[in-house]
Amino acid sequence: LKALLDQLKGKENVTLDGRKVMVYCNIGSPDDVDPVLANDGGGIGLFRSEFLYLQNDDYPTEEQQFQAYKTVAERMGGKRVIIRTLDIGADKQADYFQLDKEENPAMGLRAIRICLTRPEVFKTQLRALYRASAYGKIAIMFPMITSVWEVQEIKRICDGVKAELRAEEIPFNENVELGIMIETPSAVMMSDRLAKEVDFFSVGTNDLTQYTLAVDRQGNNLDKFFDSHHPAVLRMLKMAAENAHKAGIWIGICGELGADVSLTETFLAIGIDELSVSPASVLPLRSAIRSIDTTKNSQKILDDLLSD
Ligand code: PEP
Ligand code: MG
Repeated sequence: LKALLDQLKGKENVTLDGRKVMVYCNIGSPDDVDPVLANDGGGIGLFRSEFLYLQNDDYPTEEQQFQAYKTVAERMGGKRVIIRTLDIGADKQADYFQLDKEENPAMGLRAIRICLTRPEVFKTQLRALYRASAYGKIAIMFPMITSVWEVQEIKRICDGVKAELRAEEIPFNENVELGIMIETPSAVMMSDRLAKEVDFFSVGTNDLTQYTLAVDRQGNNLDKFFDSHHPAVLRMLKMAAENAHKAGIWIGICGELGADVSLTETFLAIGIDELSVSPASVLPLRSAIRSIDTTKNSQKILDDLLSD
């Protein structure tokens, strides 16, 4: 099997009827770039920046972050590297943030909510990201978005950071793509408006399943209920994809579900443009994509999804 998969290295992620799909990788630290390159990943679809925050006893400095992002951007050699801003809180805790104990941390002060509450922490990360953008094709992605105003505020803060760097004559890419994670039902319901604000969407199916089905992603004894194949989750994907395409932007999946080859044909029917998976899943997914003819079953898959 490994030999068969190895033969797919260097080949395109293209369906029998000629549709190309971007297959990117999820990584958690700069060391993970090796398996990405070894498995022929087309880019990084989700670089979880939390490692910088979780491995330290204090806030990582701008310089520490800059070095980490620059390393990944350079090693990926011009391929897109989507770095997600810090997603601390809930299942990912760092003591020095001194967050209050919460009854419902999954619904608490986490991810982008921390960034918008503590703009100095956010700005340090954004400065590091924009500085690193001079060394490769970096895109920035924001987690746990629920509202249009959040994205507008984020963009104002980004513009402020860019103005600062310009004034300091520090090089950066003026056109860094900005995207958001679609991982709350609210983001799906607002995806028509959100799509007008950003360059891309990436669906976090782990959290989207949790929040759509109201089932704790870390809960014990909930396996039977934590069903990412639930039609409610798939309908959410379809709605977000339609709205993304209406606004002329692309949509990917970076949650675990993206690697599930039993759903690849469904994702293509829905119109998903990119799948970001663990490096080991790139070639199996390429194999699945190359065996699909999207002209065959897409309509039936969509009809089944929406029928009562
Ligand atoms: C997700 O929620 O699906 C996701 C990709 O992000 P994380 O698992 O890091 O919350
Ligand atoms: Mg998530």
